[in-house]
Amino acid sequence: MEDTGKNLESIQEMNRTLILKLLQRNRLCSRARLAKQSGLKQATITNIINDFISWDIVRETGSIEGKKGRRSIGLTINDQKFFVVGVRLTRRFYSVGLFNIVGDEILLYKKEQVPGTGLTLLLHRIKKDIKDLIAGNPDKHIVAIGVAVPGPYYSKVGEIEPVADFPGWERISLKEELQKGFDVPVVVDHDANAGVLAECTLSSEPHDDDTIVYVAVGQGIGSGIYHKGEIMKGSQGIAGEIGHTSIMFNGLRCECGNRGCLTLYASSIAFLNLALKERQACADGDTSLPMEFDFAMLAKAVREKDKFAYRIFKRVMKYLGAGITNIIYSYNPSLIIIGDEVSEIGLPVVEELEKLISKLTIKRVINQLEIRLTSFDKDPAYYGAAALAINRAFSMPLLFSDSKNA
Ligand SMILES: [Zn+2]
Repeated sequence: MEDTGKNLESIQEMNRTLILKLLQRNRLCSRARLAKQSGLKQATITNIINDFISWDIVRETGSIEGKKGRRSIGLTINDQKFFVVGVRLTRRFYSVGLFNIVGDEILLYKKEQVPGTGLTLLLHRIKKDIKDLIAGNPDKHIVAIGVAVPGPYYSKVGEIEPVADFPGWERISLKEELQKGFDVPVVVDHDANAGVLAECTLSSEPHDDDTIVYVAVGQGIGSGIYHKGEIMKGSQGIAGEIGHTSIMFNGLRCECGNRGCLTLYASSIAFLNLALKERQACADGDTSLPMEFDFAMLAKAVREKDKFAYRIFKRVMKYLGAGITNIIYSYNPSLIIIGDEVSEIGLPVVEELEKLISKLTIKRVINQLEIRLTSFDKDPAYYGAAALAINRAFSMPLLFSDSKNA
């Protein structure tokens, strides 16, 4: 509960943030529409928009058609003036990219492998890359930096939980370490939270902002929960770590201490390992896959309805369906978006999940639920890193006024 009052200045900032977010969602709209959607007076909208135009964060587009055929001046976020840096860190690689303020990738600056590198050294490298990217683009006004990291991530303190498979990632506050040396805000969050933010704020696919869950099914499984415009984080920031919810209470022992964790059965690694093991006993005539293959080859075989690959895929989807059913009853989402490696298989993922979940879930619940794949052509968490930065910049609108004084 908010237990402090609001001063006039902060109310003005809140209103500015609201208008920026409405412009982000509408993409193109009139002052009248902003007034209607925000509930603010027309005069307040006029003042805010005048400031935004003078700061170059919003521009007029000429006349657009409104309700009843009335024409009015269109407003849109200026995508030429302000930029953010987005960094996607995984346990295998990191990517650093430059994005405009509406989330279009302008350039992928660097993609680097990370195995075996300690976290302190890694952060040092990433910071150097960000500084080089900023120095190399002096004409771009960068207002914030977003970093999407793997979980379990305690966002309150900014620490990643070390995991046995990737030793050398010491317990340090990424939040503090990454902010040092930058005078623009740096925001760090779990990759699934970044993913859901990208899906809900940058994606061109239609969505409502009721309750949306993004499920990243990659080498691990995590989810980001978006509810009425906010990411649900829990008391320490690890809400949504569904990879460590159990689908078999007497199942395999997980390093987290639990048994039967979803990630042990339905991650891309679990799928690949199961397929490699079962391949040994599979007759060559039943599959086009050789004895050794990687996840991309397996995904392709599923897409091509390879008999053997599809049989294993259905088994893995059964596990994932059980995990997703847990999400449905925990959060009652209207939309579930599947991303990360397993989504590369494509439509069969949605088809199988829909089939399974319709058997596992009350009809009235499933009727109100849509399941789809990510709308991003690249990793949503990479765009999500940009979305984190944009979201932070929009919550500090005075960042855009500074450029006039620079
Ligand atoms: Zn676990």
